[in-house]
Amino acid sequence: MHNPDLSPESLVVALGRPPHTLDAPVNPSITMTSTYVGAATPTGSERVYARFSNPTWDPFEEALGTLEKASSPALLYASGMASIAAAFNLVPLGGTIVLPETAYNGTLALGQQKEAAGHFKVRIAPVSDTDATIALLDGADVLWIESPTNPMLEVADIAALAAAAKERGILTIVDNTFATPLVQQPLTMGADVVVHSVTKSLSGHSDVILGAVVCADPELRQRMHGERTLQGAIPGPFEAWLALRGLRTLSVRVEKSMANAQELAERLENHPNLEGVRYPGLPTDPGYERAKATMNGFGAVLGIYVAGGAEAAERFLDALQLWTPATSLGGVESLAERRRRHASEPKSVAENMVRLSVGIENVDDLWRDLDQALRASAL
Ligand SMILES: *Cc1c(COP(=O)(O)O)cnc(C)c1O
Repeated sequence: MHNPDLSPESLVVALGRPPHTLDAPVNPSITMTSTYVGAATPTGSERVYARFSNPTWDPFEEALGTLEKASSPALLYASGMASIAAAFNLVPLGGTIVLPETAYNGTLALGQQKEAAGHFKVRIAPVSDTDATIALLDGADVLWIESPTNPMLEVADIAALAAAAKERGILTIVDNTFATPLVQQPLTMGADVVVHSVTKSLSGHSDVILGAVVCADPELRQRMHGERTLQGAIPGPFEAWLALRGLRTLSVRVEKSMANAQELAERLENHPNLEGVRYPGLPTDPGYERAKATMNGFGAVLGIYVAGGAEAAERFLDALQLWTPATSLGGVESLAERRRRHASEPKSVAENMVRLSVGIENVDDLWRDLDQALRASAL
């Protein structure tokens, strides 16, 4: 791991390059192979087989590990959910995991599936209520935090929760997908493990599905590496290369989309066709003070509550022209989705809530499209 003194904007550009030697390419190449030439007598440092390792994974894994301030590289997985499933394996059989009530719906669904199969017990926590969450920790094995949460945008006090977990010998795992390591570095706040859906802002172009795990403890990383090798949810080399290519522009993309999100949240706050707006960057938002104190920015996702219920929200989505009605987030293009269109979405998410993932387009163009579609929603 190198260059720890450079700022994140420089790190995302500089990390994971081939050495500066004459005629070397400036980018790593994509290694398409399933196996490697081996020594007659095993040396212990061989790549062996491409489920164990691939040189195309290494630059991204090193870069993300450095950005998250870990002492060892990240581990890439075939999807965000594969990395979450791998992290769930850290809960001992018959143990207990504490999950946020408003975590990503795939995280909650996998937790419920594992509980039904008898793997572990799930306790549901109101993660933005620090005292109530700490009160659920005694006897648990893993505390799972997501902050800000998808899609409710609740902000957790990661440092206080991780400290309370540590006192009780509980492992803290943080899904840092929404914030990205530019906005928040959970390992520096006391968390033990970070997971990412690399599909979202880290890749940033809505063209790959990938996940990652970062461990504070190199021995835990070693164990998870061994489990990834046997469970097999490895990244494809081309996806890993695309993710590194996307990572190069992370700081400019995150900066621009957060500035757009802040501007749109302020313009939308008093829109006549909305019942409310959730964005941690609005001083009226319940998460504002905590986000201001603990995050280096407020993220690029907003929740809007369209006046007139689910049907008005659907009319709003149908009327959008520049914004794309689609699930997912963190790409250069702005997306809008009514989360409750999925039967699996928790009922705690309101039917008229539309999640806006703000991209890097011109903010006035984004605003005009939202405004005309909101007016059309009322017809
Ligand atoms: C999308 C998402 C995931 C799942 O990641 P995939 O790459 O789609 O498997 C997990 N957590 C959060 C917060 C997400 O937004």
